[in-house]
Amino acid sequence: MLERDYTPSFELPESETFLQDSSIELVRFRRLASPPQHALFDFDGTLSLIREGWIDIMVPMMLEALLPFARKGETEASLAILVRDFVAELTGKQTIYQMMRLAEEISSRGGRARTPQEYKDEYHERLMSRIAQRREGLRSGSIAPTDYLVPGSLDILKALKDRGVSIHIASGTDEAFVLEEASLLGLDTYAPASIHGAKADHRSFSKEMVIRAILKDNRIEGSRLVAFGDGYVEISDCAAVGGLAVAVASDEAGRSGRPDPWKRERLIRAGADIVIPDYREAAALVDHIWSAGGTGASP
Ligand SMILES: [Mg+2]
Repeated sequence: MLERDYTPSFELPESETFLQDSSIELVRFRRLASPPQHALFDFDGTLSLIREGWIDIMVPMMLEALLPFARKGETEASLAILVRDFVAELTGKQTIYQMMRLAEEISSRGGRARTPQEYKDEYHERLMSRIAQRREGLRSGSIAPTDYLVPGSLDILKALKDRGVSIHIASGTDEAFVLEEASLLGLDTYAPASIHGAKADHRSFSKEMVIRAILKDNRIEGSRLVAFGDGYVEISDCAAVGGLAVAVASDEAGRSGRPDPWKRERLIRAGADIVIPDYREAAALVDHIWSAGGTGASP
């Protein structure tokens, strides 16, 4: 199944409404007949910060590949903007889609592109050399998992688990790495049977497929699902089945506790019901979702 492109289908609210004394933004009112039974988390940027900074590896690599085929009038600076834009546009889908786009951009300029998989391998090699120290530090114990977790991640997972919610993780990163990095961060104890990532054949995985399987295997309605994510894919897929979509507009590099404005706007337009900067207010968020009557901004 192919992944959908980003299509902004929802309006931004005229003003921001927050849950009292919190930075939990209530975007849309949702009356939940019953609380969520299953929670789906995206991985990178939503729980894990191990791959923080990936865009600064991907964009220069793509620019290097594209620059020899610049059209008349295109400069390094203008191509850098072009690359950054399409990389951002496709963020949230599996990495291979960004590489497919790079190959198209090269071909459309008369260049002979390598295969998307070759570009992906090259990118991955560069990324791994950047994050090798982080992974090694986590493995040896010289780095604490909380150093590479979105703040409050363990609190939200624990709070959901305490309420009997089953936790699932789905990521556009290759599955073997998601499993490994989830275990380095101590997250595998929360989602022992349900961690999914990209497969060798990109058509055999999508977050939508994971969501459909959760609903079917557990015979539940979409309204019993809550999804947490910093990408449009999981937010729009969750909204499409009637689940509660919580946008995690994480500030990955700064961990400022303030929402990243680009992510916030993009995720509200994709269908987010609630926006949070991270999980520092996990208890208040879970209490709100579980409180009777509904969730979100007032109707
Ligand atoms: Mg993400």
